[in-house]
Amino acid sequence: MNRLPLVPLSLGRYPTPVERLDGLSTSQRELWVKRDDRTHEVCGGNKVRKLEWLLADARARGAARVVTIGAAGSHHVLTTTYFGRLAGLEVEAVLVPQPRSEHVVEVLRAAIGLGLHAIPAGSWTRGALGFALRRVFARAGTVWIPLGGSSVLGSMGYVSAARELASQVRAGALPEPDLCIVALGSGGTAAGLAAGFAAERMKTQVVGICVSRPAWALRLHASALARACARRVAEHPLRVRVKADSRFLGAGYGHRTREGDEATRLAKAACGLELDPTYTAKAFAAALAYLRQAGGTHRTLLYWHTLGNHPRSPSKDQTEELGLLGRLLPTVAAGDAGR
Ligand SMILES: *Cc1c(COP(=O)(O)O)cnc(C)c1O
Repeated sequence: MNRLPLVPLSLGRYPTPVERLDGLSTSQRELWVKRDDRTHEVCGGNKVRKLEWLLADARARGAARVVTIGAAGSHHVLTTTYFGRLAGLEVEAVLVPQPRSEHVVEVLRAAIGLGLHAIPAGSWTRGALGFALRRVFARAGTVWIPLGGSSVLGSMGYVSAARELASQVRAGALPEPDLCIVALGSGGTAAGLAAGFAAERMKTQVVGICVSRPAWALRLHASALARACARRVAEHPLRVRVKADSRFLGAGYGHRTREGDEATRLAKAACGLELDPTYTAKAFAAALAYLRQAGGTHRTLLYWHTLGNHPRSPSKDQTEELGLLGRLLPTVAAGDAGR
């Protein structure tokens, strides 16, 4: 299908800025950042671009509610709740435990405060099963949004983002990047970018920094998604690939790493960027490693920043909130944190 009948909602403010990180760039190698924290003032980050398509689809289908799934501190669940509620939809999510950090506590609190109907599950297996079963017995008027909003439709937001970057390159705002480094979770961001760069005939290679394991599954999924996106937007077959790098993962999803903590301090000091331990600390640590790597042929590196501000909404029901926080955000054992 080449024609897209669906018109995405306009939720964000575009183009998001690109900036050269002068303090970290050298005469041989430049580091640039694409500021997708600025997609929206109150609730920004990378999920906004996906939701423009996903919520347009939900609305076109006359949905009364959307149901999704994610980790307890999922930015996708929070952002879906924020924009879904603004669009007058009920929002439900199956939530799965993850290691507790100040950041994920805030994200979960905000989602509950905005009116998310949370359905806690004990593990990813049970969560996925619960999500599938709900789907079988769904009420009319329910639209399903996959993990991270990473369907082909949601990823269209990042095909558009790649086109936006291509315009910025053409306008001389930055040189054409050799590498684009971005956190790789559910894959829609990296996949949409890879398809979009290919459609724009750019040389930019997408390197996804794995935030969970196994790396091969993340790479296969992202590459398949990228090819599906390319088929949807291009007249001719395109060669698209997403590279996946799992060297920065540490102990696993949501576990902080030493390099990530260092990258977080550096990002704050060098350019005032705020990072989170799960996604952007690992991706920025990778960008720094690629920048310093000897012998690479890349000259221009683009770190695609995916973490936005999030709203802080006090929840009305403290007992429910405390119950959910206790079930979904177990405290990480001491000694686990440094890995
Ligand atoms: C969801 C998320 C990602 C990962 O994007 P995917 O499209 O799921 O791969 C990266 N960074 C942040 C801050 C996120 O919330």
